[in-house]
Amino acid sequence: MEQRIEEVMKKYFGRGIDQCTDDELFQGLLIITKADLEGRKPIPGDKKLYYISAEFLIGKLLSNNLINMGIYDEVRDALAHHGRNLEVIEQCEPEPSLGNGGLGRLAACFLDSIATLDLPGDGVGLNYHYGLFEQHFRDHRQCEYKNPWIGQHNWLNRRDDVRFEVPFRKKTVVSTMYDIDVPGYGVEGVNKLHLFDLDTVDDGLVGNESIAFDKTNFEKNLTLFLYPDDSDRDGQMLRVYQEYFMVSNAAQLIIKEQKDKGYNLHDLDKHVAIQINDTHPSMVIPELIRLLQLEGFTMDEAIDVVTKTCAYTNHTILAEALETWPMDFMEEVVPHLLPIIRELDNRVREKYEDKSVRIIDDGNRVHMAHMDIHYGHSVNGVAALHTEILKDSELHNFYTLYPEKFNNKTNGITFRRWLLHCNPRLSSYIEELIGPDFKKDADKLQDLLKYENDPEVLRRLGDIKRDNKRALADYFRKVQGVDINPDSIFDVQVKRLHEYKRQQMNCLFAIHKYLEIKGGKKPETPITMIFGAKAAPAYVIAKDIIHLILCLADLTANDPDVRDYFRVVMAENYNVTYAGKIIPAAEISEQISLASKEASGTSNMKFMANGAVTLGTDDGANVEIHDLVGDDNIYIFGKKSDDVIKLYAEQGYHANEIYEKDAEIHKLVDFITGPELTAIGDRGQLERLHHELITKDWFMTLLDTKEYIETKDKVYEDYKDQQTWNRKALVNIAHSGYFSSDRTIKQYNDEIWHLK
Ligand SMILES: *Cc1c(COP(=O)(O)O)cnc(C)c1O
Repeated sequence: MEQRIEEVMKKYFGRGIDQCTDDELFQGLLIITKADLEGRKPIPGDKKLYYISAEFLIGKLLSNNLINMGIYDEVRDALAHHGRNLEVIEQCEPEPSLGNGGLGRLAACFLDSIATLDLPGDGVGLNYHYGLFEQHFRDHRQCEYKNPWIGQHNWLNRRDDVRFEVPFRKKTVVSTMYDIDVPGYGVEGVNKLHLFDLDTVDDGLVGNESIAFDKTNFEKNLTLFLYPDDSDRDGQMLRVYQEYFMVSNAAQLIIKEQKDKGYNLHDLDKHVAIQINDTHPSMVIPELIRLLQLEGFTMDEAIDVVTKTCAYTNHTILAEALETWPMDFMEEVVPHLLPIIRELDNRVREKYEDKSVRIIDDGNRVHMAHMDIHYGHSVNGVAALHTEILKDSELHNFYTLYPEKFNNKTNGITFRRWLLHCNPRLSSYIEELIGPDFKKDADKLQDLLKYENDPEVLRRLGDIKRDNKRALADYFRKVQGVDINPDSIFDVQVKRLHEYKRQQMNCLFAIHKYLEIKGGKKPETPITMIFGAKAAPAYVIAKDIIHLILCLADLTANDPDVRDYFRVVMAENYNVTYAGKIIPAAEISEQISLASKEASGTSNMKFMANGAVTLGTDDGANVEIHDLVGDDNIYIFGKKSDDVIKLYAEQGYHANEIYEKDAEIHKLVDFITGPELTAIGDRGQLERLHHELITKDWFMTLLDTKEYIETKDKVYEDYKDQQTWNRKALVNIAHSGYFSSDRTIKQYNDEIWHLK
């Protein structure tokens, strides 16, 4: 390996390993890895999965590919021989932001697991040139910039042999396909992630200072950004353009590959499984029906085979996220789909009286999820509680029509990235204790339970956590110039910013702690509260919450009475790379969504696998974590999902009543607009947030604030007994294997796809 790297560096850069820069070494390793992957055959099988998703939050790929290809240690050692550090070199890879959060990260973990299980399955999505956006903090606010992640050397392989004509009303365009190879862990073949693009897209449309661009010309802007601003009609229209472009390419690719393999399209469901990840790819159903009709199918035949091929995953019960598009938008963009969608809707109307299950509603809007449920054979939720809520309330009317279609697939994470790669200290210690089998089979982590009462093992776990905390402190200093104390408790909430996730409740706790310390009650162990979150650019209150967090960070950093005991910090541009640094160093995993609102969560699983203890509500996969680790190894608080669902139904929650009645909460909320914070931040923004919290508070922050504060103070108290704390960490790691995405994918395959 050493010789091979040396040769490549000399050939491309004219210098050996010793003389090249880290960036050049990254490029050299990319060239070597890509060449090896290019020589691999597709994973074989006579039925293939197409996982269609608007997001694939894949993160940096170099190390994960090296791990999966089984050459990570070899490459690391070869470089070390020349005094070069692979961990430093891998930082040179730009991180693509082809996803927003959990949903996109799930798609990336699934691709890893599908390949690792040696199942033939490709991802299909779009090649966004600037991804989501890059977040910077200025004046205690989020600013958005483009993220031009596609450098001269990258993982994309342009496929000039595969181009499709995609018809829009205005014009038919020709697509370009880019492939990224997806190797499995210890598997010979490769799957692909296909990212479609349009050569006419003009990167120059976006300036350097903002993410604004001319939204009218789809040929020039189609694949600039993931989730472009949709606050106006042009923006909404652009999303329809993107969605249709994605699924028309997917459908044409599927049909082409079936023909190339010599299969009869009437047997489509025997050779193809399509997973529709959330509603963005829903138009694949009418598009496939349209294309099969062009192949000579009758409408009945096309509907039948498409229904048997497609399956839908629901990711949320938040109403604003269940997509509906006005018919006239679709008329303007893809008029050729309308007769098909109308026919699909007519068949529903003929069969069922119930208006709520129609595809086209009385306001002439197309409900994407409804189309998926009627014309797919499977509907799955992403955690046990979430699936029950879909069946009992959110999609109850569909469940009574099609009980057999509904099933649960609790989410998972790939342990290759979220344990082996991001936490080498912990994974090599685990290997010392229980051998290497857990790397292939995460269930084997249960063998750790035999060390539950071994003080030496518990002490070592504590030491590893401290080393990871030091490493994170170094990283924070390097990338943000922020100092954090590695001997403080690391209490972490990292996830998209949304009111239902209740970062604002965590802020109220921070205010409580600040005031307590100002009042003379100093914590025995210092505390660092770590946040990381991007807010959607048009989501005003979410940005106000970021403003509050950054003001609290400023306040706690600069108050000499407080800063040695308590600090709030926020990671800038939280992404997969940052997650890989923060999660191994975390001690408390904040999972405090309003019960019933977090479909599953996956960061809760990553934290657990890395020995953090969950402080959370009975929501999403927290419920399953609770079942696995038991009451002693998790902190659960807050109203239960049944109570919350009832409160919404009865409109029984009134934030102002709690605010008026409870003096303590009143004080915490008022601190937001008090002199300390308005001296730092923007009064208008802080007042808007304050007003929101006491008048609307749609996600019921104040309902759980009191119990949250009590519970978290108890967590800090328990932390003092380090041996008991480390035992909780061990029990969490030991039971985390259930949340391997390998397990999730096995279930998808056994119960939905039937690939092998
Ligand atoms: C795992 C992950 C998420 C999902 O976090 P949740 O807390 O489950 O919402 C979001 N962003 C990144 C970068 C992640 O790695």
